[in-house]
Amino acid sequence: MTDDADAVVVGAGPNGLVAANILADQGWRVEVLEAREVPGGAVRSDRGVHPDFVNDLFSSFHPLAAASPAIAALNLHEYGLRWSRAPSVLAHPLADGRCATLRRGVDATAAGLAADFGADDASGWRRLSALWDRLDPHVVNSLLSPFPPIRSGATLAMRLGLADGLRFARMMALPVRRLGEEEFSDVGATMLLAGCALHADLLPDAVPSGAFGWLLAMLGQQYGWPAPMGGAGALTDALVLRLTSKGGIVRCGSRVTSVVVRGGTALGVRTADGEAVRARRAVLADVPAPTLYGGLVSWDDLPTRLREDLRRFAWDLGTFKVDWALNGPIPWTAPEAADAGTVHVAADLAELSDYAVQVGSGRLPAHAFLLLGQMTTTDPTRSPAGTESAWAYTHVPRHVTEDLGGTLTGRWDSAEAEAYADRVEARVESFAPGFRSRITARRILSPLALEAANENLVGGALNGGTAALHQQLVFRPVPGLGRSETPVRRLYLASASAHPGGGVHGACGANAARAALRTDRLALTHTIRRRPATRHGSPAQDR
Ligand SMILES: Cc1cc2nc3c(=O)[nH]c(=O)nc-3n(C[C@H](O)[C@H](O)[C@H](O)COP(=O)(O)OP(=O)(O)OC[C@H]3O[C@@H](n4cnc5c(N)ncnc54)[C@H](O)[C@@H]3O)c2cc1C
Repeated sequence: MTDDADAVVVGAGPNGLVAANILADQGWRVEVLEAREVPGGAVRSDRGVHPDFVNDLFSSFHPLAAASPAIAALNLHEYGLRWSRAPSVLAHPLADGRCATLRRGVDATAAGLAADFGADDASGWRRLSALWDRLDPHVVNSLLSPFPPIRSGATLAMRLGLADGLRFARMMALPVRRLGEEEFSDVGATMLLAGCALHADLLPDAVPSGAFGWLLAMLGQQYGWPAPMGGAGALTDALVLRLTSKGGIVRCGSRVTSVVVRGGTALGVRTADGEAVRARRAVLADVPAPTLYGGLVSWDDLPTRLREDLRRFAWDLGTFKVDWALNGPIPWTAPEAADAGTVHVAADLAELSDYAVQVGSGRLPAHAFLLLGQMTTTDPTRSPAGTESAWAYTHVPRHVTEDLGGTLTGRWDSAEAEAYADRVEARVESFAPGFRSRITARRILSPLALEAANENLVGGALNGGTAALHQQLVFRPVPGLGRSETPVRRLYLASASAHPGGGVHGACGANAARAALRTDRLALTHTIRRRPATRHGSPAQDR
């Protein structure tokens, strides 16, 4: 062992960087080792598509970061972070010419729904919004704290009482299609919620797609879906600047190949160039569970049961993304879509359901559901006035068994990637005739390219494992490990594979850091109890 840190964090994604900041705030000497040449994980931006355009490589919109208590506590505005918002949050143009639009504030959203989809959709939306207001901020706090969420859960229960609490629990268990059937008469509001659920791999007929769609939509209505001014990388820059100003170190180009374990305790890590870095108090791993268990930590140091459980670990779907530099705004047929930061592209609910079932069963859809980001509309600094920095992504099967729109195999070599990018563009064109003529340059990020750019995105999975109920809460990443602690002492799982899962909220990192601090404090108390105080000072001072 050469170097000495209190904690080593493996991976400089948002979870790793939030964890490192929390530990540094407590006076720990923290070293973050990052495999890539740049920090940020799936929160990065560059000028790789066109020199005049800033494009986000992965994540773009950060409502979860804006609502996250862990990130709020870091005061990142003092380190240069500024949020930028589009005039409207989200638009979903339909094939019949109508458009469902999510705006900031319930009145604005309900008015739009009333105009296009009728009074019933508007009043249903107001009901769901009133429930959110009644429970705010305890839904988010319950979700982002370690499981079980004792304090925020108790507050939720007190606010609702038994009868309403049961109704709320039932609503949380609904698939989004059923939630829509119960609350609305037309399709507009349901489309908003169903599209939001598909930001994770939650199909309209799956649980908990209703809860997830409601959460993301309500966050949008409350906070907007903000993007860091200047590019997603500005969020990473703020996290790194804050950390280094507190004495933390981020070392890029340092790939960790193993966690050193002796007698069931993590002592440090070893890097690809053979360096050993000692961690006196904790190792925090911002890597997927299957990378940590049986990868960085040998099965010899882990319980047999874990190996068996991990065999059942389910990744989320693959992702296929295209980034564009456009010489003008996207010429949407629906005028409401022009002002939205995010546009969901799917003709109607039936098409959305077909897409979801096809992707889930290995078939590459002919009509892909797209999530599309208009970044210059959201943040004018991204590209010259009158142009648009944009992207779209869609989920694809992890293993393609059939292509319903052509002859692609899921090999994702460059010919397949180009062909699928053409299909994505044709899809946008059908809602915005003339779109293709505005493309100055494009970058394709197939599932293989995503993984090559960030090894956490295994097969293009963007959430560190499925968000389906069977792998959430106490089942994440495997049954019984709903917390960050691992079977190895002083080793913590800090990535999106841990509860509460994917998204840029830093909660997985924050929970891991707090678990490490708690364990360390307990160990210290134990030591003090065992060692009598000396005449010259307490054992704590000796430390
Ligand atoms: C295309 C795409 C779009 C997305 N859009 C959004 C969005 O708009 N909003 C949102 O909230 N979320 C979004 N997400 C999800 C979000 O970005 C992730 O859930 C989040 O980044 C997870 O953070 P993390 O710190 O767990 O992992 P990551 O961000 O993946 O970071 C992990 C880091 O660990 C490093 N690493 C891995 N192995 C090692 C090793 N052995 N040694 C050293 N370093 C290692 C990696 O290089 C990487 O830098 C998106 C993701 C993708 C891919």
